[in-house]
Amino acid sequence: MKRRIVLLGPPASGKGTQAELIREKYGIETPSVGAILRELQVAKTDLGMRAAKYTNAGLLVPDEIIIEVVQSWLEKHDGAFVFDGFPRTTGQAEALEILLAKRGTPLDLAFSFEVDFATIQDRVCRRMVCGQCGSIVSVGLHVTSALSLCPRCGGTLERRGDDTLETLMRRMQEYREKSEPLVSYYEARGILRRIPGEAMPESVFASVSAELETD
Ligand code: AMP
Repeated sequence: MKRRIVLLGPPASGKGTQAELIREKYGIETPSVGAILRELQVAKTDLGMRAAKYTNAGLLVPDEIIIEVVQSWLEKHDGAFVFDGFPRTTGQAEALEILLAKRGTPLDLAFSFEVDFATIQDRVCRRMVCGQCGSIVSVGLHVTSALSLCPRCGGTLERRGDDTLETLMRRMQEYREKSEPLVSYYEARGILRRIPGEAMPESVFASVSAELETD
């Protein structure tokens, strides 16, 4: 069973949804750096406020802030994880490699979710997040309207501040320039798995599970 995993892919490629399914089935912690940053922003911490000006503009947060968040997460948890949306730059991938080498626990797998831009746009327009439990909900798939309540906990659904078309275009550009090179980075290390991400979440998850369970 693979226990140290990162999820790569453009915005709304299904990273968060697959992370949730992995956590439910295998009990592995699935930290989302984006979600941690959103919590730090709500709590108005220094790190959160420093990150906010980048996240709100659809720009990647500087590596040193992200590495601080990840290092502190790793120090507080056991060795198993599925990072959703980290690393997003080669500098972050190198920093993760060094942190894990020090612990003698190298990364097992990097999944790359591959989806068309039309799908990304459609998903971003439908995506809502529960303000209470953080569940990702898609209008038309999980709930009938943006005014519905969270199907998991009954909380109020909210739109992410960065889920606008303008911000999405900038996030896509950041992805292509800074994050896409990570696909080759992990391919060169023999741990990349490309996953077609257009299908329904359960069917994408079947491919993910098969890879996780292969020794
Ligand atoms: P996400 O929830 O993964 O879509 O991330 C939301 C936003 O948080 C991104 O658009 C970035 O501004 C920031 N962010 C999340 N993860 C990272 C990362 N690994 N590196 C830099 N910025 C990040």
